[in-house]
Parts: sequence; structure tokens; C-alpha cells
Amino acid sequence: MTASPDYQAILETIAAKVRPLAAQGRVADYIPELAKVPADKFAMAVHTLDGRRFAVGDADERFSIQSISKLFTLLMALRMKKETLWQRVGREPSGNPFNSLVQLEHEQGIPRNPFINAGALVITDVLCRHFVQADRAVLEFLRRLSGATDLNFDSAVAESEAEHGYRNAAMANFIKSFGNLDSPVDTVLQSYFRQCAVRMSCQELATAGLLLANHGTVPASGEALLTPSEAKRINAILLTCGTYDAAGDFAFRVGLPAKSGVGGGILAILPGELAVAVWSPALDENGNSLAGAMALEHFTTLTGRSVF
Ligand code: GLU
Repeated sequence: MTASPDYQAILETIAAKVRPLAAQGRVADYIPELAKVPADKFAMAVHTLDGRRFAVGDADERFSIQSISKLFTLLMALRMKKETLWQRVGREPSGNPFNSLVQLEHEQGIPRNPFINAGALVITDVLCRHFVQADRAVLEFLRRLSGATDLNFDSAVAESEAEHGYRNAAMANFIKSFGNLDSPVDTVLQSYFRQCAVRMSCQELATAGLLLANHGTVPASGEALLTPSEAKRINAILLTCGTYDAAGDFAFRVGLPAKSGVGGGILAILPGELAVAVWSPALDENGNSLAGAMALEHFTTLTGRSVF
């Protein structure tokens, strides 16, 4: 084992390099509330399995986790359904935008993977069948994993998305027409919009991600939420599908399993070692945080650590 890198110095170097890049991206505006977030915010936090924490920038400031929630809802659904979950959602990269409907027709309403919107809606449906209030259950799960008992939804963001969520509504109806949604379409959509609208900081996301670095066991409590095999599989899906249709390029550049969201956050995992969260709201053309992806690319280069 080589000596541990100087993570704090590395984070500071990265922040100085990538902050200016935000000017080249665009803050998501298809959910009007998200467009209000200043583009120049930047944060990064690294939490290691041996209990060390490093951070730079606005690492305690909360932002809309958006699609990063898809990772945590998948963990919840997998715990309930185990292998049978894969009868309802696949695990292949889609190669299409996150909100695309095209493959659903060919694949008879079985979404390609749990990290595109179609797949996340099916996962949300699993939760809606199981919990009286699925959105609350997701919030409680995130509170438990992050240790932040005051996490909450941003209702303005959830309502803003519900008002403009025509494409997700179309998708949910389409999936329902194939019989792959049990709950009423509106129940699933409302729950989905609310789980996307949870606000978390980079520090909280890094803590919440640690169980995936720790082979399925939450380090703080010793609770085994997933088997090592399940954790390995989730990390594999993160690597191949977690960063929209740019997942191949992201794996090439960064080499870590990761999930991004249109709020500008990315949570990445180095199995056996650490979780790292980054936030910069301006996005690239694929919907990934522009400075965030570059920060992670520098992180694996400067630390010499990745899954490869
Ligand atoms: N709530 C957003 C949507 O469904 C999440 C998108 C994302 O972060 O990828 O459009």
C-alpha cells in the first residue's frame, strides 16, 4: 500500500484549476427553480473509510441532489426486491439522453437501467408500493446514511419540476401502458420529483456514499445494508450508467463509479477507500457538472487512484 495522498492539498489545487471552467457551462433551467442557483458555486469533499474528512469551497452548502437520488432509491429497492428487481429494469448503458423515451418502445416498457429517468420511475414505483409515503422513506434513508437528521425537500424545486415535468409524465404513462408501473402515474411522479428535490451538501453526500466504498456496510454504524456482491454490482452500474450518456467518456477520463445530477452534484466512489462529492452547478452538454467532472478527472490523476 502506498502512502496516503495529501488530499487537502490536492483538493485546493483542483479547486483553483477548475473554478474558472464554470463560466463555460450552463446551469440547468428546464426546472426553472434550479436556474436561480449561482453558477460560480464550487465545493468538493472527500471522506475516507478510516474516518478522515477533507473539503474545499462551499462544502457545507446544500444543493438539489436531483438524479443523485436515483442511486439511493436503487439501494432501497434492491434491498426489498433483491434479484427480482432486474425483471423490471435493465442494467445496460442507454447511450441516449437521461430523459429519452425512444428505447422504451423497443424494450416493452423495461427501462435500460435504473439511472435514466424511465428506470428511476420504475424504481420509485417499487417504493410507492412498499411505503405509504415513499418520498418520506427516501428522505429518512438519506438522513440515516448522511447522519444529517435535518435534511429536507426543497418544495419549490419539486413544485417547479411538477409544473414543467411533461416529459417525465409522458414517460411514466408510457411505462404504465406496458404494465411496468403498479401505482397511479401521479403518485409515482410526485414522489419522484420530491426525492430529486432533496437538498444535501458535498459533506453529507460523501458520508452517505461511504457504504458503497465499504462493500455495502455503513462505516459509522457497522450496519450491512447491502451484501458485498450487491455493492459491487451497484458500483458497476454507476460506472457504466451513472453519468448520463457520457458514462463511457466519464469512465475514460475519471475511472470511478459515479452518479451525477442536473443540480451540478456528482458523487463518486473509490471502493475500499473513500467517497468524494463535488458540486458546481454549470453543466456540460450531457448534463454533467462541467467543473465537477474535470475536478474528478484531476482527482484521480493527482492521487494516482481509480478503480483501474
Ligand atoms: N428531476 C430531474 C428530471 O427528472 C432529474 C434529472 C437529473 O438530475 O438528471 O428531469
